[in-house]
Parts: sequence; structure tokens; C-alpha cells
Amino acid sequence: MKNSRINEVIEFVKKYYKIISVVLIVLMLPLIYLFVYSTGGIKYVYSHSMYIPILLAGIIIGPKFGVFIALSAGILLGPLMPIDTVTNEPQIVVNWMYRLVIFMIIGFTSGHAFHKIKMSKQRIDELMSHNQETNIPNTNFLKRIPSILKNDEYSLMTVLINNHNNIIDVLGTDIYHILLNQIYTELTSNLKDRTLIIQSDSNKLWVMKPYLDLTNDAKYILSILNKQWIINDIPLYVDFSIGATHVEHGFDLMNLDTFESADNSARYAQLNNISYMIHDENKLRKKSDYALLATFKHALETNQTFLTYQPKIDLNTMKPYGLEALIRWHHPEKGLIMPDSFIPLVEETKLIHLLTDWVLTNTLYKIKAFRALGIEVPISINVSAKNLYDPFFFERVMKNINSSGVDKKLIKFEITESVLMINPEESKNVLEKLVKHGVLIELDDFGSGYSSLAYLTQFPISTIKIDRLFMQKILINSQVRQIVKSAIQLSKDLGYKVVAEGVETAEVLDVLKEFNCDYAQGYYFAKPIASEEIEDWYRKALQP
Ligand code: C2E
Ligand code: CA
Ligand code: CA
Repeated sequence: MKNSRINEVIEFVKKYYKIISVVLIVLMLPLIYLFVYSTGGIKYVYSHSMYIPILLAGIIIGPKFGVFIALSAGILLGPLMPIDTVTNEPQIVVNWMYRLVIFMIIGFTSGHAFHKIKMSKQRIDELMSHNQETNIPNTNFLKRIPSILKNDEYSLMTVLINNHNNIIDVLGTDIYHILLNQIYTELTSNLKDRTLIIQSDSNKLWVMKPYLDLTNDAKYILSILNKQWIINDIPLYVDFSIGATHVEHGFDLMNLDTFESADNSARYAQLNNISYMIHDENKLRKKSDYALLATFKHALETNQTFLTYQPKIDLNTMKPYGLEALIRWHHPEKGLIMPDSFIPLVEETKLIHLLTDWVLTNTLYKIKAFRALGIEVPISINVSAKNLYDPFFFERVMKNINSSGVDKKLIKFEITESVLMINPEESKNVLEKLVKHGVLIELDDFGSGYSSLAYLTQFPISTIKIDRLFMQKILINSQVRQIVKSAIQLSKDLGYKVVAEGVETAEVLDVLKEFNCDYAQGYYFAKPIASEEIEDWYRKALQP
């Protein structure tokens, strides 16, 4: 309560300080006159007090007011002031005129000098708070927020220019800077007052506008931005991503943390190829996830990632008949990272294409390494939804396999049923093309979704892999046991081969054998094996 009163007073003084100063300075004149008069007249030292209002007038208000106050002061201490109040003897004209001139010089110079200092400070502030190349306010500008944005709700939007590197590469930084400035001008002229736009990075703007509704605000910004940009007669394609978040109080915007959620949302939109993303605590990844993702491409390129191979066992012969390639990441600081901690992140981005290409390439090497030892080993790799629905996936895969010279029947793709269900028609198309060219498909994690085997028959699948959750319960839950039994039976009736994954004990293995399961995979036989050891392991396991 008390604080807000003080704040109100401060606000009032800030707003009216010039008027208040003028009144106070003018009031000082008669007071000082009376003071000088009552202390004995101009011949005593107290007359020098008159410099105070003259200097204040110059400094606070400016040179003109300084001269005006000096003139008034000169007259008050001139013809209107005796040399000595006891004798009432008047001053010689030259004396008080001379004083008056000195007063005026002081009033003017103090005012002028201060005005100069103020102007250059303003100029420096202006320079410091604007981006040199684009002339758009930068983060230093945030200090000025209280005078621009009031204590209202705001929509804060991070606008990313996704293809800025490309624009710079093709057209150069000068054109790019002109573009940024045009974008800024376009935004400011469309958005009404009480908005603020800041360039916080070479490819990033923060737009703050009064809050209406995040979705509409983001769409509105997009509608301004989605136009044909033309710089020096060159039409430019500019790709934007927007992240929007709600800010409850205007002055929260002085705090840089506020911008993090908008930035993260924009990054999310960018990575997922969508035009805008509204901040949602639950949907967004942690900051550390972004940091991890940011280094992933480099990790792939520098082989921080590596493959391990888990054998699949033929339950008739109890010998291995193939391998599954499983990726790992040896992070320079975090150590070993398992796929469950980074695959879901990578899958949300286009990086999953690089990952799968990398896995395929390395798997093809491994198949060739086995071939050099005279062993023919089929290896399966895991394929994500984004891969399957990537229009270039099929061509890329085929090119990769063909140029490796590996027999196509040796490379298999594991695809989960949930991936197929995203777009059954489209998945059917791609799978049929793959199968036609000799690549076999295994249905991964069967039973973890809801689709029935009968429904799955429309897809050209060769093998069904029963989810490892079932193996964990098969011994203790008779219902699960029954489900596995029927799943194996039905799959075989439909002409599929069946693999059980996650087999950890001999007891589970016995049950599977009893149900006539074809293949199994699990820690009971082998954990995923390092690339350096897999050939040895395999060769030994094949021996009688
Ligand atoms: P998934 O395809 O179902 O792979 C089987 C996972 O179960 C592997 O975990 C494997 O190490 C583990 N596992 C094998 N036998 C047993 C067992 O007896 N008991 C238990 N409890 N687990 C067993 P991992 O290697 O951590 O991989 C986890 C998931 O990450 C994989 O599940 C797969 O969805 C994904 N993943 C792994 N590598 C790749 C890859 O190269 N590309 C893609 N897209 N996904 C991958
Ligand atoms: Ca798998
Ligand atoms: Ca699986």
C-alpha cells in the first residue's frame, strides 16, 4: 500500500518534473532577493546565492530559461537592491549591469553545455540500443520498456527467419540486413502503438504486442510476414517460424527469462516445420533437450554415435539367424546415452533422416564385413514414422543399398504398428515398393498398439515381433500367456514368421518353444553386442 503511494508520487514527479522545476526556480528568485536584502544588501557575500537558480534553470530546463532567470536575477540584485540596506545607497549602474551580463553568460553556457551533454548521451543510448547494421532496436532497448509498454498483458512472439543462412549465402549480408529492416518496418507500420520489436539475434526478432489471443496474434504476425519480399528488385523467399507466449505484466518483459519460452516454442516450430507454436509447458521439451539436439548432427558426423548388434535366435536350431542394429551415443560430456533418451527428440526433427541414413550405411558396412568372413547375416534397422513418410526415403534407401552392393534380402526394416497407423494408405504404398525391391519388413512392438492381426494383413509384412512387455508377464499372468499363444498361432496361420523380443530367462524361452514361436531375441541369449565383437560372437555361436 505504502509502496504504491510512493510509486505514484515518483511517477507524478517524473511526469511533471519540468513544470515543478520551473515553479521552484521562479519561487527561489524572490526568496533569495529577500535573503540578500535581510542580510544587509549587495555588498555582502550572500548575494552569490543567486547563482543557484541561474545554474539550475540552465541545467534543468535549458539555455533560454537560464538567460531568462539570469536577467530576472540581475534586475532583482541590480536597480532593486541597495549596496547597503542600512544606508539604502543605490548601486552604480555599471556595476549591476556588469553583474547582469555575467549572470546571463552563466545562465546561457550552463544550459548550453548541459544540453550538449544530454544530446550526446541520448545519441550514445540510441546507438547502443539499436542494431548497427539493421537499425532495429536491440536487447539494450529493453531498458526503455517501462516508458513504452504499460502494465498490461502482452503477447510475446519470437520470429525466426529459418532460411537466413541461405539468404546470406546467395545474396550476401547487405541484402539480408535490408530485408530485416524491411521486415521491421512492415511489422511496425502494421502493428499499432504500444508494441515493441527487438532484434535479439541475426535471425531473430521479438515482437511484443498487447495480448488478445495467442493463436490469433501469431496468425496476425504471420499474415503480415507472409508476403512477397522484394529487395533491390530481387524477389526473396523468406521462411518464418513463430513461437508465442503470454506475458501477464508489461514490465516482466524487462527480464530476459521471459523470452525463453517464446524462443523455445519458435525453435520447436522451426524443427517441426510448422509456422507457429503456442507455448505450452507440457508439450515443450526442456532446455537441456534442445542443447542435446543441437549437438546431434555433429555427433553423427564425428561418429560419437555407434551401433551395437543384438542377435536373433532361430528356436528350431538355437543358432543366430540375424541381428538388429541398435544405436548408441557416446556423448563427450554426458557419457553413454541410450536411444530412448535421444531418439524421441531426434524423431521430432528432420535429423531423423540423417540418423536413419547413418544407421543404414553403417549396417551395410557390417553386412559386408560379415560377407568378407564368409558369413551371410541379415541385419534389421529401426525405421521411424518421419522416415517412412518422407517422399525421398525410398529412393535414398535404394540408392544407398544398391551402391553398397549388398544383397537386398539381407537388410530388413523394423517398423512399429503405430507408425503404420499414422497413414495406413501411404505406409502401404512405401512398404510395397520396398518389398517389391526385395527389402523385408518386420512389424516391431506388436501388441503395444490396438490393431488386430487381421487388420495388419493388408501390409506386406514378413515377420511379427511380439513386444517385450508380454515376455515380462508371460510367466505370471495366464491371460498374457494365452494372448501370446494365440498371437503366435494366428500369425503363423496368416503366413508370418514370429519373433519374441525381450526374452530374459530359460523359463520364458520354454513357454515360447511350447507355443512354436519361430525366433527369439533377448538378454537370455545376448545383450546388444559391440561392433568390434559381433563377428567373433556370431562365428562362435554358429559352431556346432
Ligand atoms: P526396440 O526396437 O524395441 O529395440 C529393443 C530394445 O529392447 C533395445 O533397447 C534392446 O536393447 C532392448 N532389449 C533387448 N533384449 C532385451 C531383454 O531381454 N530385456 C529388456 N528389458 N530389453 C531388451 P535399446 O537399444 O535401448 O533401444 C530402445 C529403442 O530405441 C528401440 O526399441 C528402438 O525403438 C529405438 N532405437 C534403437 N536404435 C534405433 C535406431 O537406430 N533407429 C531408430 N529409429 N530407433 C532406434
Ligand atoms: Ca526394433
Ligand atoms: Ca521392439
